Amino acid sequence: MEQLPVYLDHAATTPVHPDVLAAMLPYWRAAPGNPSSIYGWGREARHALDSARDTVAQVLNCRPREVIFTGGGTEADNAALQGTAFANFDRGNHLITCAIEHHAILHTCEFLEQFGFETTVLPVDEYGQVDPGAVAAAIRPETILVSIMYANNEVGTIQPIRDIARVAHERGVLVHTDAVQAGGALSLDVNSLGVDLLSLAGHKFYGPKGTGVLYVREGAEWQPQQQGGSQERNQRAGTENTAGIVGLAKALDLAHAQLAARRVHDQYLRDRLITGLLSDIPAARLTGHPTNRLPNSASFCFHNVEGESILLGLDVKSIYASSGSACTSGSLELSHVLEALGLPAEWARGSLRLTVGLDNTAAQIDYVLRELPALIETLRAMAPPTTPLAAAS
Ligand SMILES: *Cc1c(COP(=O)(O)O)cnc(C)c1O
Repeated sequence: MEQLPVYLDHAATTPVHPDVLAAMLPYWRAAPGNPSSIYGWGREARHALDSARDTVAQVLNCRPREVIFTGGGTEADNAALQGTAFANFDRGNHLITCAIEHHAILHTCEFLEQFGFETTVLPVDEYGQVDPGAVAAAIRPETILVSIMYANNEVGTIQPIRDIARVAHERGVLVHTDAVQAGGALSLDVNSLGVDLLSLAGHKFYGPKGTGVLYVREGAEWQPQQQGGSQERNQRAGTENTAGIVGLAKALDLAHAQLAARRVHDQYLRDRLITGLLSDIPAARLTGHPTNRLPNSASFCFHNVEGESILLGLDVKSIYASSGSACTSGSLELSHVLEALGLPAEWARGSLRLTVGLDNTAAQIDYVLRELPALIETLRAMAPPTTPLAAAS
């Protein structure tokens, strides 16, 4: 028997791993000191922070001093872009990103335009990949930063970050990558990737929500975006979230120690979903890159069905999934990602993202394979292709 509910929205967030929870617990009650305090509890908290920073630095193959703990992925993305932009304004005002970035990047670029910055938003191909040649062609004398995500949250596509970093560095341009979806799934070795800045969020790899990392390479021109105390070597003011940071580091360490095993587990379930759904549902297509995609990500479009209706129907069956990104579900806007992939509206409207994780089982996947084709058929029967969408809802 399959365990219910079937949680298939690990790209939105993940449950905290039991070992992570255990590692965090002491820092709320038993050792609740402020890491800046000099007495025993303060020193204990400071030690926990130092050791968390060492752990993260090991996974990133960087120096501990290059790791800044933040309040999540969005904050890390904002700080990466704004901190680089404002620190380099004397050199140039041009940024390069791509059309399928998370809103934490795209909206920050729009925000920066108020201050005189300009952004080139590069297109992606039908699989969601950025062409490194297009990055090279977009670089101008006044370009200060290229920010391209490592892996996409909606369709799972992995970007050729190494090649993109190489062409940017040939022209002396800094490179940031939003690695929030890649954390816990792909190598985060910043030297092999060749990036200068990188963002992570703890809750995407079985760590706590509201925790993140911004890596800034030593020597990269960047300035802090939050003013106040001298925490994080003056790079991110505010009392540190000790328990959260300990949890993030533990989660990252666990994930990267188990990277291969988790990949095998996730890929098996992902491929079972992809193969099963594409064969059992007519007019269905996989979105994103067929092979160069996150091991846990299965994303689809079904012709002439509404994504919201699929989610509601699945919820009734205790299957938790998402359509497009979590931020856009509930709004009628089509996903900017699917639009950038060139999917026509009658396909993009019926998008479904299923992202598997550690606690999912083959029995749960088979349950989805039994329920979903029938649901799509029912929804299509209720709203035949000739019926306008507005009349059907
Ligand atoms: C989730 C996500 C973010 C935002 O991270 P938060 O921790 O939720 O602020 C940014 N970028 C990508 C690619 C994400 O998937």
